[in-house]
Amino acid sequence: MPEEVAQKELSCRPDAAGRIERRGASGLNKDAEHLLELQEVDFVLLELEQSKTYLPEMIAQKEKEIGILESDLKARQETLTAKTLEIKRLELDVSKFQTELANLQKRMRDIKTNKEYDALVKEIDVRKAAVSQTEEKTLQLMSESEDLKKEIEALKEKLETVKKHSAAELESLRRELEAIGVKVRAKLDERKVKAARLDRQALTIYERVRKGRGGHAVVRVTQSRPACGGCFKTLPPQRIQELKRGDQVITCQNCGRILIWVPED
Ligand SMILES: [Zn+2]
Repeated sequence: MPEEVAQKELSCRPDAAGRIERRGASGLNKDAEHLLELQEVDFVLLELEQSKTYLPEMIAQKEKEIGILESDLKARQETLTAKTLEIKRLELDVSKFQTELANLQKRMRDIKTNKEYDALVKEIDVRKAAVSQTEEKTLQLMSESEDLKKEIEALKEKLETVKKHSAAELESLRRELEAIGVKVRAKLDERKVKAARLDRQALTIYERVRKGRGGHAVVRVTQSRPACGGCFKTLPPQRIQELKRGDQVITCQNCGRILIWVPED
């Protein structure tokens, strides 16, 4: 074992000034190491919690997309039914006008005077115009119905594709959500273990700062960056000395985050 490593591992001996250095193989103070580890667990938990929020939103979004297509399809089908009924009604009108027309034309044979003739021709013309108008309207409606039928077929196809596609996606989203629940439970157990290793005071400070600082409560300070990693305020030499000693929890006087000295070599 190289001498340097052996020195670091035999870490609980008083140094030249009589201070006890509690440093592990990483060169970090034990509390600092535990704080950073706890923070890592909390970062993962935070991410998992965020996924737990956006996954149900994605599931709802998928279901909404299908709902919109379904109601669109239903509305078009209802319009088609109305147009079909209207066409039937117009066809009945045409046959009624044609019967009247045939009866009027039969009466032509019994015409006695010019006056009667003119009146009859006028009535026949009225029926003829009605037939032609109604037929025209029927043709218009039929053409509209044909377009609607095509739209309905296209919508049905699209709905089927979306449903098929979404079914797989929804299944995978639901599975992901379930897996996250399992991961959260495991991480919470891990958190309990890590939190229990921490000094009570350090844990209290950590929890308080974490709430106020959106999760980022512990920041690293190094020789080349002697500033708070959260608010970037430069630390006075006195603080750096206290940090290097690592025998107490030191917080940034500007933002309150817990500062941790990380040796660079
Ligand atoms: Zn700060």
